[in-house]
Parts: sequence; C-alpha cells; structure tokens
Amino acid sequence: MSELSNFEKLEARLMLLEVAVFGACPDKIEKPRLRLNKPTEAILFNGDTQTRVVVPAKGIMRCPYHEEKTPSCCVDVVKGEFNCFGCLARGRVEVIE
Ligand SMILES: [Zn+2]
Repeated sequence: MSELSNFEKLEARLMLLEVAVFGACPDKIEKPRLRLNKPTEAILFNGDTQTRVVVPAKGIMRCPYHEEKTPSCCVDVVKGEFNCFGCLARGRVEVIE
C-alpha cells in the first residue's frame, strides 16, 4: 500500500467520523453512483490481495481488512474504487457480473 501523508490520514479520520455519525459515505452518498440497486458481489483488490465480498446497496460495508462492528468501508462501483476510513485500506473494485 502506498504511504499516506499526514493530511490524508487526518482527512480519513474526519471521513470516518462522518461515516460513524451519518451511517453513510462522506460527501458522496447522495450521488447515485455510490448506490446500487441491490447487494452486489464484487472483488476488492488491495495490493496483492483479492477479496470477494458482497457490497450492500448503500455502498458502505464492514471492511474485510480490519475488525469492525460499524461499517466504514465505502465502495464506489462506478469509479471502481474502495476506501476504508477505519484502516485506510484502499484499492480497486470490480463487480462480478
Ligand atoms: Zn478497514
């Protein structure tokens, strides 16, 4: 995983807070691209690791890369990116057709 600057880390913390408060992905939640019609199977690519997951319709899920009770991993299937504001894992996402 690439190194994050302190600013990016701080930004991620703030976004995690937003996720915790609103139960939604920061900023972008109202944009339709983050919403799916139904839970969707996808593969997350994090460095050399590939993880098969089911992404909930809201586009926010519990992160497969760290233990958590409250979802903080935002998945944008249109952009093809995921971002965890808890452990800062990020990478590419591909929907399984
Ligand atoms: Zn995580």
